Amino acid sequence: MSDISTPCVQITLSREATVGDLHVRRALPTQRRRTVGAWCFADHMGPEDLASSRDVEIAPHPHIGLQTVTWLFDGEFLHRDSLGSEQLIRPGQLNLMRAGHGVAHSEQTPTPHGSPLHGVQLWLAQSEVTRNGPSSFEHHATLPECELRHGLARVLVGEFASTVSPAHCDGEYVGVELDLSRGLSELSLRRDFEYALIVASGALDVETVTVAPGRLAYLGTGRDELALTVREATRIMLLGGVALSEPILMWWNFVARTRQEISEAHGSWVAGDERFGPVASSLKRTMVPAPPWTRQR
Ligand code: MN
Repeated sequence: MSDISTPCVQITLSREATVGDLHVRRALPTQRRRTVGAWCFADHMGPEDLASSRDVEIAPHPHIGLQTVTWLFDGEFLHRDSLGSEQLIRPGQLNLMRAGHGVAHSEQTPTPHGSPLHGVQLWLAQSEVTRNGPSSFEHHATLPECELRHGLARVLVGEFASTVSPAHCDGEYVGVELDLSRGLSELSLRRDFEYALIVASGALDVETVTVAPGRLAYLGTGRDELALTVREATRIMLLGGVALSEPILMWWNFVARTRQEISEAHGSWVAGDERFGPVASSLKRTMVPAPPWTRQR
């Protein structure tokens, strides 16, 4: 598994799904591609026109063993969690929540809202070192940018092109938004990272492969640089990191290693015990179905 010299371009189709009535394209996980580095979940949300006064409401729900990375291109979202955080997020800002042993949160569009909602919701699997530790939440109102020859990079987490995000980083991974104009763009990458691209808007070619919204382009490892032929103004999420050295078990909103761990987290949420504290939200807490392996036949 230590082969770090296998660049490739593999396209997987995202799955259409809904989260709190919001239309999303789920780029990770899919049948053919479960993770990219520690990135284990990637929803491209919208763009959804909410001018029809429809609210997006994602009711309080639990997480373990992952970090949520919320990033908007347009619109606003209000985050509340069991740590007592209440934070409005706007485009270009980062909400990073570390679940550790357990946290609960809700997300909803503020009232009133006017602009369409468009963004990504990403998860990073936590390492063995931190995944059973405390939960935390951080908001970054601004993030460092770096100029590229044909655009701009905003570094959400990790380091890209010598630009380092101030966000907490407990592993070898990176998340970047790239805003590119038409032309040839060259990116410097790390040979030991595997990477993937998610196109939020626009289109580009990676080698001979066209990538557009609704698709994830997995790029493999072993690349020092990447050439992108950008066809029109294009917005991309570049996700990368050292491939996970151990398999993770994901079920519902839980990231763990064993079924036992997930069954315990589910039991705590159903019982309403202290593992997941209350969220100061008027929305009703989410019912979590029993894991399939615990259901009576
Ligand atoms: Mn969540």
